[in-house]
Amino acid sequence: MRTEKDRERSRRNARAWRLRNPGKEAEAKRRYRASPKGRVASRSADLKKSYGIDADEYERMFDTQKGVCAVCGQPETVVHPVSKKVARLAVDHNHQTGAVRGLLCMSCNMMIGHAREDAKRLLKAAMYLMRYEQEQ
Ligand SMILES: [Zn+2]
Repeated sequence: MRTEKDRERSRRNARAWRLRNPGKEAEAKRRYRASPKGRVASRSADLKKSYGIDADEYERMFDTQKGVCAVCGQPETVVHPVSKKVARLAVDHNHQTGAVRGLLCMSCNMMIGHAREDAKRLLKAAMYLMRYEQEQ
């Protein structure tokens, strides 16, 4: 079992290593964050900080939704400008309570945001559009 004495020795050794190897810790951190394991950990930390869920919880939600947007039922199509990969579904959450609702495509997430998360407003917009669809 690790004792407080062991932990203190580890901290002392790590401190000595950093002093002997200036800049290497930052380089090692950069390499770790670029590795597959580091990318997942970094993403998980971002998700946890922003929404209180980790990458595993995101994946469970994604699987439950069968990989499609919870509103329109379509997969994400927006391509990230730098990575050129299709973006991940966004984590939709109540901005008042912080409660996560579901995963949405960029378009639906923005639609809800522009409507200020007002369900009645969105319903009125849908009814407005449907009124004109019947005329065409
Ligand atoms: Zn959608």
